[in-house]
Amino acid sequence: MYSGRLIKGIGGFYYVDINGEIFECKARGLFRKKKVVPVVGDYVEIDIIDKENKKGVIEKINERHNELIRPSVSNIDQAIVVFAVTQPDPHLSLLDRFLVLAESQKLNIIICLNKIDLLKEEEYREIVNIYASAGYKVILTSSKQNIGISDLREELKNKTTVFAGPSGVGKSTLLNYIHPRLKLQTGEISIKIGRGKHTTRHAELMAVEEDGWVVDTPGFSSLNMDFIHEDDLHFHFPEFVPYMDNCKFNSCKHINEPSCGVKEAVVLGEISKNRYTSYIQFIDEIRKSRRY
Ligand code: GDP
Ligand code: ZN
Repeated sequence: MYSGRLIKGIGGFYYVDINGEIFECKARGLFRKKKVVPVVGDYVEIDIIDKENKKGVIEKINERHNELIRPSVSNIDQAIVVFAVTQPDPHLSLLDRFLVLAESQKLNIIICLNKIDLLKEEEYREIVNIYASAGYKVILTSSKQNIGISDLREELKNKTTVFAGPSGVGKSTLLNYIHPRLKLQTGEISIKIGRGKHTTRHAELMAVEEDGWVVDTPGFSSLNMDFIHEDDLHFHFPEFVPYMDNCKFNSCKHINEPSCGVKEAVVLGEISKNRYTSYIQFIDEIRKSRRY
């Protein structure tokens, strides 16, 4: 048996990377009976049945650390959430939405603010401050001026990463710079926003240097958060958590309750107003989606 990583699945065939060699595999009938479907990102064990033509059979799927849905990908370590400082102008509540979705999947998160060649530092400083003080690692990049690319490349080593973010922010361009072999098409619409819509593309894993893997589609094809319970939402705003100890009520949702540690921190400027506003907006959205 050989250990490898499932990088792509098309029409019942699974493509497994074993030390850089790709084997076309079928899944054992056994999986079908158990209703287990191999997904891209799985660490698998295969039997090689035809070495010359690189064909094999998946015998075993190793336990998954996590699994993203639509597109379905497993064993993801981190999300790099990419936004542009302008063109398109960053929509902070959309950025917060991506962060909440990534937090809800328990992914490590890095924020990449791209296209910094288009603005002066003081014009995007505030956004950096908001997210850095919320505890996120923020990397500033410009593909155009080759800024921050090596930092980003460093973050990809030994990890499996999804690049999430709205279309047009420069994800494909960044990936092409990081790893010219990837040759992603730029300028295409890579994520559709809105209820019910989702991309039809299947995810594929691409090997980058030093045992890093990148998923070629954004991790979240739907930006709905109605699967998140309103009681859990505050945990997806990590900078709120230490202040929640100061809330009078255990069940505090930090909305209208008296003696709320989170609201006090907002007043004191220790939690960003912008972030708090997104939180209230998302609570509202989750409640509305429950009403039907
Ligand atoms: P994606 O939809 O997120 O994959 O974005 P693309 O990589 O397709 O880039 C969208 C547009 O932004 C393209 O026209 C790129 O040439 C442009 N772009 C990408 N990165 C940068 C950058 O760092 N600076 C500037 N000025 N433009 C960029
Ligand atoms: Zn509270």
